[in-house]
Amino acid sequence: MSSNLPTIGYIGLGIMGLPMARNLMKAGYPMVVYNRTAEKARPLTDDGATSADSPADAARRVGSEGVLFLNVTDTPDVEQVLFAEGTGVVHGAARGLVVVDHSTIAPIATQGFAQRLAEQGVTLVDAPVSGGDVGAQQGTLSIMCGGEAAAFERVRPMLEVVGKSVVRLGGPGMGQACKACNQVAVVNALLGVCEAAALAKKVGLDVGKMLEVVAGGAGGSWQISNLGPKIATGDHAPGFMVDLVLKDLAIVQDTAERVGLPIAGTGTAQGYFRSVAAHGGGKLGTQAMAQALEQLGGFRFTAADPPTSPEDHA
Ligand code: NAP
Repeated sequence: MSSNLPTIGYIGLGIMGLPMARNLMKAGYPMVVYNRTAEKARPLTDDGATSADSPADAARRVGSEGVLFLNVTDTPDVEQVLFAEGTGVVHGAARGLVVVDHSTIAPIATQGFAQRLAEQGVTLVDAPVSGGDVGAQQGTLSIMCGGEAAAFERVRPMLEVVGKSVVRLGGPGMGQACKACNQVAVVNALLGVCEAAALAKKVGLDVGKMLEVVAGGAGGSWQISNLGPKIATGDHAPGFMVDLVLKDLAIVQDTAERVGLPIAGTGTAQGYFRSVAAHGGGKLGTQAMAQALEQLGGFRFTAADPPTSPEDHA
């Protein structure tokens, strides 16, 4: 199929990358894919994407007019994909290439990567996302961008395929800095929901009913509406995993440390997530923070629990 749209390279076809790459293909972009575990690229190569042998090969195949997307796990993974001896993106990149990094990584490292790439004539746009696997599938992510304005404008039409909110916040690393702020807001909101649910449980309220009432007032949030019902019934299936939020909170703490800012609420949330992970819950959803409150308070949230308020038995 011929297309006037530039070729896109996509590296990292996990929970987020696979549906985001698929949405770009559906929008008509010719696609070159690379995944470390080659098998995971199969759904896209079956639909007509070209397979690359390495990140360098993917960069070579998209050329100077193309755009290369990364969607891998952590800061060292992005560094490896970009700069690994022989196989990294820089070894195949033409001058003029734009690299968009959707991974959630450290802002300070992103600034260093942007500088190293610029020395090769390659521009980095950091573009971490919020909205989870559902947002990735539905093309409704919030995308927080940093990098040169001209490069951002070049990739904006592609970002608008996968996101409903696409905002540039400043130069290199500022998208990642915004994502760190996003995670501070998310985990503190979740901490509030868990503590409210724990108090409700201890005083004998129906936890589900309390959450419903509070969600409709000034205590409302995405966390209470989406994760509250799961907390009330002890449903800890992921969603966004505890191990990944711990990775993000290490980035947040490092970022706050660099500017000398105490973020005590976030530290408490981080401690609770660590406790959940230490008890084997790293692969659970973030709502499993409630397990730490259960241990502290000596109670359990379960679907089977009858409401303890006498009127509710009527
Ligand atoms: P995932 O399902 O674990 O996928 C990670 C992908 O990165 C896989 O394709 C993996 O390859 C690849 N990868 C990791 N390290 C690599 C390396 N050193 N070299 C080459 N490839 C490597 O993770 P995900 O949930 O898609 O998350 C991707 C990014 O989005 C993370 O930074 C995460 O924090 C962020 N994020 C996730 C969510 C969410 O709800 N999941 C929401 C917002 C943001 P293999 O297949 O070989 O393992």
